[in-house]
Amino acid sequence: MELETGHISTNGHMDDNGNMGENGHMSPSEPKAVDDEALTEPGSAGQEAEPATPGVPETDSEQTQEQEQEQDFGPPALSPSQLKLYDDCPKKWKFRYLEKLPDPPGLAAVIGTFAHSVLEALMNLPPEQRTQDIAQAIAGQKFDEISRDKDFQRLNLGKPAIARFKWRAWDSITKLWTIEDPQQVEVIDVEVKLTTKVSGVPFVGYIDRLDNSPQGLVINDYKSGKPNHPGPNSDPNQRHLEDSHVFQVMLYAAAVTEESSDMPAKVRVLYLGELNGQIAEEVTPAKLEDVQAKLVETWGRISDSRISQTFEAKPSILCGWCAFLAHCQEGMETVIQFNETGKLKDSAPAMKLKQILFNRGAGSATLDSA
Ligand code: SF4
Repeated sequence: MELETGHISTNGHMDDNGNMGENGHMSPSEPKAVDDEALTEPGSAGQEAEPATPGVPETDSEQTQEQEQEQDFGPPALSPSQLKLYDDCPKKWKFRYLEKLPDPPGLAAVIGTFAHSVLEALMNLPPEQRTQDIAQAIAGQKFDEISRDKDFQRLNLGKPAIARFKWRAWDSITKLWTIEDPQQVEVIDVEVKLTTKVSGVPFVGYIDRLDNSPQGLVINDYKSGKPNHPGPNSDPNQRHLEDSHVFQVMLYAAAVTEESSDMPAKVRVLYLGELNGQIAEEVTPAKLEDVQAKLVETWGRISDSRISQTFEAKPSILCGWCAFLAHCQEGMETVIQFNETGKLKDSAPAMKLKQILFNRGAGSATLDSA
């Protein structure tokens, strides 16, 4: 198990107008149309999420880090985000991990990455220094860093949108204080990289924060998106299998147990978005067996797909948010159907495709210009 720790310096403060001083540079002005457009992806403040919150980063920093780890012949190890992607749509997994088609993070994902980096640095400090004033100072320094990042620059935000970016990030960061008192947490480490084998499957993952508690180790994962909505017949005892967020942290618990023989006591998902709060789940040997079995089963299906070069398309409403839609006939046909029945939201990126916009309501959308 490899450990990585955060490093901070305290420069810059965010004032009541959202300005970051010293190192931060912002001066809100009149919004422009392009700014509002950039802020209309699912998961943005004031917007209702689609099922499974498409467009909202599932694992925030994990996916970005994972992209840097991939080899030319596909991912050498399975991560929770890969596993979920394959479950959602094997064809999308192929586009993302084998063909490596571009899938740049959207605004919500970049905000999540920024908020994560601030909390990582904050929680790596001695407990008495984990205050909102110091979080503001860290945010000033981290914003200077992220503003030079290509993912941030690709968003092409104007000044008003940058101001909103900072406010959304700061809102997310301060949600932590509504869930827990950061000064009372016994942090063992932050941003813990796990590279190990779980039940023989090569596994990679990134634990946002590893704590100690009177009961034992606690694994924490920050989510800046929304919680999964439990189905009407969902069984609370099966949440570790049915809720992808809980499944992810339970897999981390399995990896830690396998690596160190020290079974964590608890896993937590801390929601720092519009709907904040936490899900805490006790770790038991039975739950670890369940998630390990699912990992092994999915790894087997991915291996079969790679050998047979068969990657099934599983089209759904989520195709409207798929970065690879223009490459996928099944997805296009599905999006057109949802568009014709008025079920596709205007905010879906697919609606920006000209032929969908042009024919909306006409009932005659085609793939001609796809
Ligand atoms: S458009 Fe839909 S079916 Fe096609 S790869 Fe994306 S999610 Fe899968």
